[in-house]
Amino acid sequence: MSPTVPVYDLVGVGFGPANLALAIALAEYDEQRRPEDPVLTAHFLERQESFAWHSGMLIDDATMQVSFLKDLVTLRNPASRFSFLSYLHAHDRLVDFVNHKSLFPLRVEFNDYFRWCAEAVADQVAYGREVTAVRPVEQDGEIGYLDVVTSAGDVYRARNLVLATGLIPTLPHGVARGERIWHSSELLHQVDGIDADDAKRFVVVGAGQSAAEVTAFLHEKFPTAEVCSVFSRYGMSPADDSPLANRIFDPATVDEFYYAPEPMKRKLMDYHANTNYSVVDLDLIEELYRRSYREKVLGNQRLRWFNASRTVDVVDTGRGALVTVESMLTGERTVLDVDAAVFATGYRCDDSLPLLGDLARRCHRDECGRLRVARDYRVVTDECLTPAIYLQGGSTEHTHGITSSLLSNNAVRAGEIVQSLVHRMSSRQSVLSTAGTR
Ligand SMILES: Cc1cc2nc3c(=O)[nH]c(=O)nc-3n(C[C@H](O)[C@H](O)[C@H](O)COP(=O)(O)OP(=O)(O)OC[C@H]3O[C@@H](n4cnc5c(N)ncnc54)[C@H](O)[C@@H]3O)c2cc1C
Repeated sequence: MSPTVPVYDLVGVGFGPANLALAIALAEYDEQRRPEDPVLTAHFLERQESFAWHSGMLIDDATMQVSFLKDLVTLRNPASRFSFLSYLHAHDRLVDFVNHKSLFPLRVEFNDYFRWCAEAVADQVAYGREVTAVRPVEQDGEIGYLDVVTSAGDVYRARNLVLATGLIPTLPHGVARGERIWHSSELLHQVDGIDADDAKRFVVVGAGQSAAEVTAFLHEKFPTAEVCSVFSRYGMSPADDSPLANRIFDPATVDEFYYAPEPMKRKLMDYHANTNYSVVDLDLIEELYRRSYREKVLGNQRLRWFNASRTVDVVDTGRGALVTVESMLTGERTVLDVDAAVFATGYRCDDSLPLLGDLARRCHRDECGRLRVARDYRVVTDECLTPAIYLQGGSTEHTHGITSSLLSNNAVRAGEIVQSLVHRMSSRQSVLSTAGTR
């Protein structure tokens, strides 16, 4: 090994809220560590140039879909200096926030909170580093380390790895991104290229929270343009955030879900999909309806609904797009000449294993081809692989439940991964010291 390759107990790929919560949990572990506890060194690699949380969708008035108490730390350590309340206090807004009487901060504010936390653990992160491969380092027939390689060719040697690379934006089959054909995740990065005085029409495809937010945003930003909302449901459906259903996101539910029989897991995902998937905050549905009705009264209908409909053709015209919408009720087709088409058609989960190359073969899968993941978020691997590979994010939804891709359980999950690491590194140290005394 080149003497310049740094070795860490943990290397993390991605530095979104999941690995940020883990970096904080590691920092707090270090602050409270007893002399007999192992020292844990960690480094996280993030491809963005600085911390940013879904920056293309940081619409000014969008709010969080989760209580601020489910920040990066509170459910694990309510006394943490990294809580949202500490952030508010540091920014002299604590009293103002309390007067606001809301559990749901603005998304831009939560992004700023994340950034504030990220700055505090900046020594654990390298930005502008895209990880392109993870390679095994073999010793005496065993894989003792993993080399994490970036696109610039830098190598970080890991005793353990944590993958938290997030979700990947998806477009409908046959639709390709273009100058004016966007996924909702790029909205704010692209929209300023369109002059508000010139814009005539937009189409937004999808019926989830992002689709509703994009529709409201374009309708407001372009006061003379038509905004056509296309979705296959009859109407947008409200998110179920009622208290009993909300328990599906509880930390204790992860345990119940993990140990439940497979058919029950599927049932729970089906029953409670409407807490998260293809649903919209009721307030926003009502706001959109209010705008639409007002326009009807005033005889200037800019907000148009193409419900029970789908797009059957999208042609990039360079200055915009021609989008053919088909009603699934009547078969009628309408061609919309738009300044931009925005596909709020969701995200897919990537289990990050392509990064592992040949190593992926050493990760065990269940009868449905999904990764086997232990309760402590470790992928079950061949025994010859000494490093643990932890997963954070949607790739553990089938084992740990619906909260996996969300923020709700971030704090607790980070603590569980730290505990698992401490346990592993303590055992490793005692094996090494026993071997040393032989
Ligand atoms: C617009 C929007 C709003 C949302 N709002 C909420 C909400 O209010 N409440 C909630 O619970 N959930 C919400 N979510 C769900 C969201 O998944 C979580 O909020 C959160 O982002 C998950 O964190 P993460 O760290 O797992 O993934 P991400 O936030 O996606 O972070 C992954 C990071 O990994 C980096 N990365 C990926 N590949 C590589 C690589 N090869 N090398 C280096 N870096 C890499 C990415 O650049 C990214 O920074 C929202 C999602 C969206 C899209």
